[in-house]
Formats: sequence, structure tokens, C-alpha cells
Amino acid sequence: MRRIYLDYAATTPVHPEVVRTMLPYLTERYGNPSSIHAFGQEARTAVEDARGQVADLIGAKPEEIVFTSGGTEADNFALKGVAYALRKRGDHIITSSVEHHAVFEACKFLEKGGFKVTYLPVDRYGMVDPEDVHRAITDKTILVSVMHANNEVGTMQPIAEISKIAHERGAYFHTDAVQTAGHIPVDVEELDADLLSMSAHKLYGPKGVGALYIRKGTRIASFVHGGEQERGRRAGTENVPGIVGFGKAAEIAKRERETEARRLSELRDRLIEGLLERIEHINLNGHPTCRLPNNVHVSVEFVEGESMLLNLDLEGIAASTGSACSSGSLEPSHVLLAMGLSHELAHGSLRFTMGRWTTEEDVDRVLEVLPEVVAKLRAMSPLYRKGS
Ligand code: PLP
Repeated sequence: MRRIYLDYAATTPVHPEVVRTMLPYLTERYGNPSSIHAFGQEARTAVEDARGQVADLIGAKPEEIVFTSGGTEADNFALKGVAYALRKRGDHIITSSVEHHAVFEACKFLEKGGFKVTYLPVDRYGMVDPEDVHRAITDKTILVSVMHANNEVGTMQPIAEISKIAHERGAYFHTDAVQTAGHIPVDVEELDADLLSMSAHKLYGPKGVGALYIRKGTRIASFVHGGEQERGRRAGTENVPGIVGFGKAAEIAKRERETEARRLSELRDRLIEGLLERIEHINLNGHPTCRLPNNVHVSVEFVEGESMLLNLDLEGIAASTGSACSSGSLEPSHVLLAMGLSHELAHGSLRFTMGRWTTEEDVDRVLEVLPEVVAKLRAMSPLYRKGS
């Protein structure tokens, strides 16, 4: 059976060119970048070259990039680092109600430590209204953190407008660009971001490496303490092969993202139109136009997302529900609930995310299989009557 991977938002395969670039750093070029000898200096040069490649992807300066263990650490660093550096100035943070758990849980942690957090509402497409930022911001606000695009429904936020409001009131602005960096243009000047999170494994790089962009002059406390790596901002021996791979992936992404985004948005629209045409009682979630080029997120009435997922998997198609599944108890997604979806619809959701190796045949295969799966599940559902 041909297997079809449509879960690129969860993770991407490592690009073969990236693997080739990384390999020597796992074998003969194994030096520690902090060592003075030639082995160390070879590794140091590789890390600094990668820093330049990652900076170049987002229009930053190399010294504004701090490598981390991934997007989660970058988000935690941004939130906790600013909170602890500026706690004498203010104790208020603004974020949205559709953030990834890496931001959400970091905020919850800070609340326990005495910080106040405002969770902005979103409209039915998952979009934040900049006017709400205006209303929420005070002289005590030290940070506004709103993601560039949502990982579940793909909605893109009006970042530049939001960062402008934050800056007018003297607050820093952070954006989680884990789902956008390498896929659509991300430029720290255009977004006017002080802090921006990235992750290598979402852009055809390896897992376990990411970066936080920190605009020069931004006050931020370190939260991994130890050696002087990353200019004292993030201790620990650098993940040299990972960083080298991230750099290469960033270089390839910069070269290919425009053509790839165009190709993927055509596949996305083909899938959306095909599903809406072939399946009754199906709703597209997320913004109809301001959405990631590779994201299709739907709610199918009268069926469970997990049942569709398992049936698709039996047919070799890998998708995702977009709802978190923890130890057997299924919690509906906080993103979908914030958008105003009912628990039933949130439970009936399905996310397809496409990428570099997705073809038109893959999309057509989903269009053939999913209507059959839905019909089969609805036939077993006591809630569904044809034409209801
Ligand atoms: N932020 C967003 C929007 C994400 O989609 C993810 C990963 O799913 C993360 C943060 C976490 O990144 P990582 O897996 O590199 O820790």
C-alpha cells in the first residue's frame, strides 16, 4: 500500500541535502565549538555559518539568533526571559487564546508566579482583533505574544498591526513563527518583532533544534544557566549536527519557499473544494483566505475525528485531528473552542497539512477515500439520518 503523509505541521521529513550536510558533523567533524583546537574551531565555524543562514531566512543579524532545543524552548525563553527581566517594570502579559501549548503553558506558569495574563479572544476564523490588544494593554504590560499562524487551523494573524500597538505602549512583541518560518516570507523588520520563535523540524530540518530571534537591545533573562555558550544567553554544548542541519534547511527554504507556497496553495484549494463538494455537512475551519498555504482543517458533522483518522490510517493516509489526546481521555482543542465551535464539531475535526513531497495524486486519493470513510461511519452513527 502506498502511504501518504499529510501531517507536515506535526513534523517534516529531513531534506536529503540537509542529511548530507549534517553527516560529517556526526562522524569526523565532532569537535566541541568551545574548544580552542582545530576540531573545535571547525565546529565553531559550522555553527556560525548556520547562524548566518538562519538569520538570513528572517531578515535578522546573525548575533540576534540564539539556538535552542526547538520551538517549545524558544517560546519558553521569550516569555519567561522577558517576564523575569522586566518584572520591576510591569507584571502584565497579553497573548491570544489560540496559542500553541508552548506559549499557553509558559503563561500559566508565569501566572502562578504572580504575573497577570490576558488571553485575547478570536473571531470564528481564529483571528485576533488588534482593537482587543488596544483595549487590553496597560502601562504594566511588558510583553505581547501572538503567533504568526496557527498550527491547527492555519489562520494567519495581523502581526504588524499588533506589534505596532505593543510598541506604542512600550511593551515588547513576540511571535511564534514555528509554522511560518521557511514556508512564507517572515521578516523581523516587516513584522516589527522583538522576539520570534522557530523550529527546524517544521522546515525539513532535524528535530530537537530551533532558535529564538532576539532583537539587539532587547532585555531578556537567560533561563538555561551553565557555560557561556550562545554569548551567555543559553548554556549547554551546542547541538552541532542539528544546528548545521537547521542552517542548511533555512538556506533551502529561502530558495524554494515562494514556488513551494504557490504549488501547495493550489493543492490546498483542490482538497478544500473537493471535500466540500463530496461530503455533506462539512465545514472548513480557519480563515478562508488568510491561511497557511498547506493547511486544510475541516469539521465533519456526526462523526468523530479519531474514527476518521484511524480509518484513513488503515488506508495509508496520515492526517491529524488537531485535538489533543491525553491518556485516553479526549479533550477538545482549545483553539476550536476559542473559535466558538461546539464540542461536537471540535471532536469531528480533521487536519491535513501538505508539504514538499505531496502530489496531486495524494490529494485525489484523500478525495476518494474520505467520503467513503465518512459514509461508513455515519451509517453506524445513531445521530445521523441521511439528509439531516
Ligand atoms: N509552536 C507552534 C506553533 C508549533 O506548531 C510547535 C510544534 O508543533 C511548537 C511551537 C513547538 O515546537 P517544537 O516541536 O520544536 O518544540
